[in-house]
Amino acid sequence: MATEIAAALNCEKKSDSDTLPCGSCSCCRRIYEGNFPDVKLLQKKKDKATLGVEAVKDFREDMFLSSTESESKIYIIDDAECMTPEAQNALLKVLEEPPKSVSIILLAKECDRILTTIKSRTQYIAMSRFDDGELEKWLLSISPEARSMKVSDPARFMGIIMSADGRLGQAKNLLNKRLSEENEEERSEIIALLSAIARKGAYADIYSVTSDFPSKRAELQLTLERLMNALRDLIIIKYDPNAKTVFFPNGRDATNKCGDIPVRRLVAIYDAVNEAHGLCIRNANVSNLIASLTSKIRLAANI
Ligand SMILES: [Zn+2]
Repeated sequence: MATEIAAALNCEKKSDSDTLPCGSCSCCRRIYEGNFPDVKLLQKKKDKATLGVEAVKDFREDMFLSSTESESKIYIIDDAECMTPEAQNALLKVLEEPPKSVSIILLAKECDRILTTIKSRTQYIAMSRFDDGELEKWLLSISPEARSMKVSDPARFMGIIMSADGRLGQAKNLLNKRLSEENEEERSEIIALLSAIARKGAYADIYSVTSDFPSKRAELQLTLERLMNALRDLIIIKYDPNAKTVFFPNGRDATNKCGDIPVRRLVAIYDAVNEAHGLCIRNANVSNLIASLTSKIRLAANI
């Protein structure tokens, strides 16, 4: 969405009657490729939990320099909710009075972590996730790889749709071959963990999966989210076997792959994973976190 706005503001064919980007002029194309000098992106580093004040100050300084080639300069801050309060405060003044022709876009997954003083100076646009049908239709319309994968490997294609969890960007990333292989591998590890949990006392099998959990914070966070999605599916199908699932293609597939796990055990494990996920976001040490999660899962697997 931020890229589309940036393209709309810089499109060579923009007119008062057509405010959408054409998508094919040199400006639009370079913006989509991330290759346009007047559209800048700030993201937190992958292994960091926060986006610090120094990086934000450098970004802010740049806004006062003159543009390289276009009338509109766009500054996009991804992971804006990860900005420290100090970093957010560094933006207050520039958000109130941005330099001429500068647009600032903040992208956040959780608005609760954005200071009220920042929110009151911005225009808020809520983005909703897409359902699987919409996601599939979109993916098939933009990508020849998606169309051929749907025919040659429908299970992997469905795996991508389920893992993307309503996010267009994530679906597109997962289509990339290496990423989609990693995604498949991770899905089978999660299933291996759940089937170990289904058998009481399969400690070694539990440990063998959790010891392979990613050591990078951002990746671990995603793995934990997927594990929670899978647990959620297993819990809700206990009450409604036809309920809509988010990790497994359907309820029957979930039971076939993971066996019959008692609800109390599932809920206890869900709580442990959810707690670990919270700690992961709040910058806890990753290896301690995995060790403590492993012991909680092993305890809960006895319930
Ligand atoms: Zn254009």
